[in-house]
Amino acid sequence: MGQCIYCGKPAGFLKKKHKKCEQQHEKGKSEIISLVGKIGAAGGDLHQLERSIERVASMSFIDKNTLKSLLVSGWERAVNIAFDDGLLSEKEESALIELKEHFALPEEILDKNGAYSKLEKGAVLRDIMNGTLPERIKIDVSLPFNFQKTEKVVWVFQGVNYYEEKTRTRYVGGSQGFSIRIAKGLYYRTGAFKGERVQTSETVYADTGLLGITNKHIYFAGSVKRFRIAYNKIVTFEPFSDGIGIQRDAQTVRPQLFETGDGWFTYNLIRNLAQL
Ligand SMILES: [Zn+2]
Repeated sequence: MGQCIYCGKPAGFLKKKHKKCEQQHEKGKSEIISLVGKIGAAGGDLHQLERSIERVASMSFIDKNTLKSLLVSGWERAVNIAFDDGLLSEKEESALIELKEHFALPEEILDKNGAYSKLEKGAVLRDIMNGTLPERIKIDVSLPFNFQKTEKVVWVFQGVNYYEEKTRTRYVGGSQGFSIRIAKGLYYRTGAFKGERVQTSETVYADTGLLGITNKHIYFAGSVKRFRIAYNKIVTFEPFSDGIGIQRDAQTVRPQLFETGDGWFTYNLIRNLAQL
């Protein structure tokens, strides 16, 4: 007779668990995540939260390790809830930090899915939207940029893929599109004019490097490409899920794309700095 992995009592021939115990276990897990998620950004009595959680855990056969990971999931949910209604407020930020400290949740574990970074990013955006330059960033790489005297670094993205948009023109359908040389000119056979001109634009990978964001410029430094772009030279900003595209105020410059891995933050950061 096997024993139930949850309650430890006999589970029946060739069985490892009671269906009921398993259901209770799963229900308890989601209840804990939801309890933590709810109080997370709103704030509240954390001692009472802890007692409720312990009660649910003991009723639902949840061990200490599982509980720890449920607290992390709950904290991540709380971050999402905090951003649901727009930007992270100061009150939400401190409630989340308090929750993190109450349960001694380590930053690197909270950041496994990027939730802790999101909190920092939210705070940076809030500063900028309030018209102040954030003082919070710690840069752990040496920067290859030549900043101007009054310029301030706001954020540095590492390992950014840089792409340039190229427009290619080709002709489809005109099979006889060859030219022949006649006298000094080039003569195109009629077939060349039957084809349709098709313009395709494609993004071409150009380099990978650091993307430095200041209050005045975007800097890029890769192994082959290095440049800086002033905000007042940018006419279009295009948001992508994983980055941003910009178009400069010059006909000769093609759209430029930066893949930072976080389009939401990159776009909000750059757009708002450009307006400061
Ligand atoms: Zn059982």
